[in-house]
Amino acid sequence: MRELTGIQASPGIFIGRCYLSLEEEDYSIPHYSIMEKDLSLELGRFHSAKTLAENELTELRNKAKLEMGSEHAAIFDSHILMLNDVDLLEQIERNLRHSLKNVEWILFQLEQSLVKKLGDSQDSYLAERASDIKDVSRRLIAHLLKRERRCLTSIQGHVVLVARNLLPSETIGMNRQAVHAIALDAGGKTSHTAILARAFHIPAVLGLQEITKSIRNGETLIVDGDSGKVIVDPDPETLEKYRLLIERKAHHERELGSFCTLPSVTLDGQVVPLKANIEIPQEVEDVISRGTDGIGLYRSEFIYLQPDSVPTEEEQFLAYSAVLKAMGNLPVTIRTLDLGGDKMIPEFESADEKNPLLGWRAVRFCLDRQEIFKNQLRALLRSSMHGNLRIMFPMISGVEELDRCHAVLEEVRLELREKGIPFKREVSVGIMIEIPSAAMTTDILAHKADFFSIGTNDLIQYSLAVDRGNEKIAYLYQPFHPGVLRLIKMTIDNAHAAGIQVSMCGEMAGDPYATVVLLGLGLDEFSMSAASVPEVKRIIRSVTRKDAEDLIQSIMSMGSYVDIEAAVHSWMDERFQLDKR
Ligand code: PEP
Ligand code: MG
Repeated sequence: MRELTGIQASPGIFIGRCYLSLEEEDYSIPHYSIMEKDLSLELGRFHSAKTLAENELTELRNKAKLEMGSEHAAIFDSHILMLNDVDLLEQIERNLRHSLKNVEWILFQLEQSLVKKLGDSQDSYLAERASDIKDVSRRLIAHLLKRERRCLTSIQGHVVLVARNLLPSETIGMNRQAVHAIALDAGGKTSHTAILARAFHIPAVLGLQEITKSIRNGETLIVDGDSGKVIVDPDPETLEKYRLLIERKAHHERELGSFCTLPSVTLDGQVVPLKANIEIPQEVEDVISRGTDGIGLYRSEFIYLQPDSVPTEEEQFLAYSAVLKAMGNLPVTIRTLDLGGDKMIPEFESADEKNPLLGWRAVRFCLDRQEIFKNQLRALLRSSMHGNLRIMFPMISGVEELDRCHAVLEEVRLELREKGIPFKREVSVGIMIEIPSAAMTTDILAHKADFFSIGTNDLIQYSLAVDRGNEKIAYLYQPFHPGVLRLIKMTIDNAHAAGIQVSMCGEMAGDPYATVVLLGLGLDEFSMSAASVPEVKRIIRSVTRKDAEDLIQSIMSMGSYVDIEAAVHSWMDERFQLDKR
């Protein structure tokens, strides 16, 4: 038995046989010289392969759109765009003329240099785009060589798919009736594979580095997407332990299922709305089935995070309208673009940023690139006709930025009014509190916003000076740090003094151990991944406001996060047996 540790990319546990799928990169690419007079012949071969690849991609795109919606089909659109990229085509032709080698070799060389350049990038988003380049290049080479590509659509049985990496088109195309878990050498949390695995509810552990080298086809595996572990060839006790764990999780899920239809209200009658965070419109079905009270955070930048696919105003309008319509009267808070930081796309890249997380991000980027900002605001306002929309600005650091955002929004309102395009006037406009300077000036900001939503993911990162993605210092990333709790309390107290409500949409809102603390601090509503809603609701329905305030009373004077965490955990475990889940 061996235990491998990777990145928790998609939750859930599955025990099954390994289906090891090695990529075709091991096949040899022919390498030979051509005569100058044969150049046009070689170019002709390239263009026929390109036509075949484009037809194939169009077919795949149409199939994906039909089965899963345009969000997923966009991956193929981006590949078609890449195939027709004028710069890329010119470069292929230039390299061909210059080196007089066969076109498969030229493509392979170009692919390797682009993949290396992107793979070396510190930016995880760019590094992930390397797989799209390889996907397109391998499709072309397969047509040139008349070879079949690795085909994951025909996998049978109930298997764990193990591979070095999965290309986006492969993840969408794989037989999801057969693939019940994924374990990969490569990949990170922002890869398409991780995003799609979560959307398909398939447990996944990525970033395992060498699993493909240490495993054989057919071996039994346990993929534990909750803890980021893969156990190879488990012994009988481990198997039994995980079988019990799966049963317990299923039993607990069933139990929690009964909370979906119950209201989120404390024992003493305080209604506490529990909303969901989403990244793609396809998540809405899950959001509705878990009995949430709306969407508290729609991370709108995800529609941009498809390679080479800067969405038009119309595409954004359609995506927002679809979500709003599906949610009916329930409120939907759509956050304006939080591009930048770890979520930049090549089209908008600026010169090297030394500290992207402190850089050209979110509203800073939008206020600079107002045509992009206005496009989105127009799409948002137009979509307001289809439901209960709230708009939220991310990464506000102070009043100047907020005033400028309001001014741009007002310009867009005027423009729509002049053109006679309908939109709702009464849309609430709020801000995220995720920068310490904003938290500390919430007494002022509260008079300029309709609501606050605390983004603890960033607020913790910036107040404790801990990069939220850096594993080496992860032990310092502490939601129960007294500094963080004080900033949360200050935000809530200042908002209430000004008569506005406060939500929280950072990961802390979905942590059951934090529920009563946040309630005690006075949080009005919570927003989290839809799957966490039933457990948090179970806790809220079992406490009173007084219980929560007593807990807060006992921890707010403590100086050490270790003491606070220990006190909170023991209080919660005593009442809710969270440690047994
Ligand atoms: C946050 O910072 O807490 C948040 C919800 O935003 P994101 O995770 O998208 O930065
Ligand atoms: Mg944030």
